[in-house]
Amino acid sequence: NADMAMYEAKTAGRATYYFYDAQMGARLSRNVRIETRLRQALQDDVLELQFQPKVDLNTQKCVGLEALLRWEDSELGWVSPAEFVPVAEQTGIILLLGEWVFEQACKHIVVWREEGIQVPPIAVNCSAAQLKRPNFLAHLLGLLDKYKIDPSLLELEVTESILIEDAESCAELLRQVSQLGMKLAIDDFGTGYSSLSYLKDLPFHYVKIDQVFIRDIMEDPDHDALTRAIINLSHDLNLKVIAEGITRTDQLERLKSYGCDIGQGYLFSAALGASSMVNDPMIVALREQQEDDGTLEN
Ligand code: C2E
Ligand code: MG
Ligand code: MG
Ligand code: MG
Repeated sequence: NADMAMYEAKTAGRATYYFYDAQMGARLSRNVRIETRLRQALQDDVLELQFQPKVDLNTQKCVGLEALLRWEDSELGWVSPAEFVPVAEQTGIILLLGEWVFEQACKHIVVWREEGIQVPPIAVNCSAAQLKRPNFLAHLLGLLDKYKIDPSLLELEVTESILIEDAESCAELLRQVSQLGMKLAIDDFGTGYSSLSYLKDLPFHYVKIDQVFIRDIMEDPDHDALTRAIINLSHDLNLKVIAEGITRTDQLERLKSYGCDIGQGYLFSAALGASSMVNDPMIVALREQQEDDGTLEN
């Protein structure tokens, strides 16, 4: 009997081991391929930056753009940043990738400026490893100087994961960035370990409510209540609120009734390629507005 149990346990153990091994192996080899191809993509300069408008919910005007990475690999096809950014973070590639993103954002600002379009600020997503680099601020200042860009044209979006490990040094860096005139957003708020003290202690300007709350704000009373609470709390702390992932007008109306300031989502626009942006209705409207206001350069 004892022999029998041991045999079964061993079999089960082996079977379980084999099952996990196969799954982990598959993910690992996919990630290794992503790592290899991503390094190549950076070298070949085939990554693209796209821009998703942020819309003032009261005026319906475009008040900002979020820069989002896009990658179509010749072997892997389209790979989502939700998949390759974590690989980049684990392998350190994010440092190179992040520098590329900042420089691209600056280059686009210059091109638009030359075309006479005053773009609204561009928000760049920034990973923890980037912020932890001792030369982060110097590098940023170097780019602003190289491209003659006012710091107020760039914004940073960071998630609270940044603050968990090394809150003090990150807080200091964020203060310096903010003093430059760059605005800061806390991204994906409400997920992970969102701590209310971050909102109070750190120089954030915007709270971005994660799209999981907005997606079912009409159907899930808890998500509805949390959204309203986050908006009220943020306003009490003098922060503006951005709702991510708005896809329907009923969601938009609900958010407006709660006083949400800014929205993003497919209802307004997905991320746009830089060249199509010039002809996008939202950007055309922005340009016409600037012409009316007399704020258009040249
Ligand atoms: P995020 O910063 O929270 O960006 C919002 C994501 O939601 C984007 O996905 C955007 O395309 C998507 N989205 C916008 N509106 C809607 C909507 O109405 N419905 C739905 N279902 N989705 C919507 P994307 O571009 O796939 O990026 C995923 C994440 O990858 C980003 O989340 C961000 O964390 C990361 N990421 C993207 N670009 C960069 C980058 O340049 N640097 C870093 N560090 N991370 C990046
Ligand atoms: Mg973001
Ligand atoms: Mg987000
Ligand atoms: Mg996200």
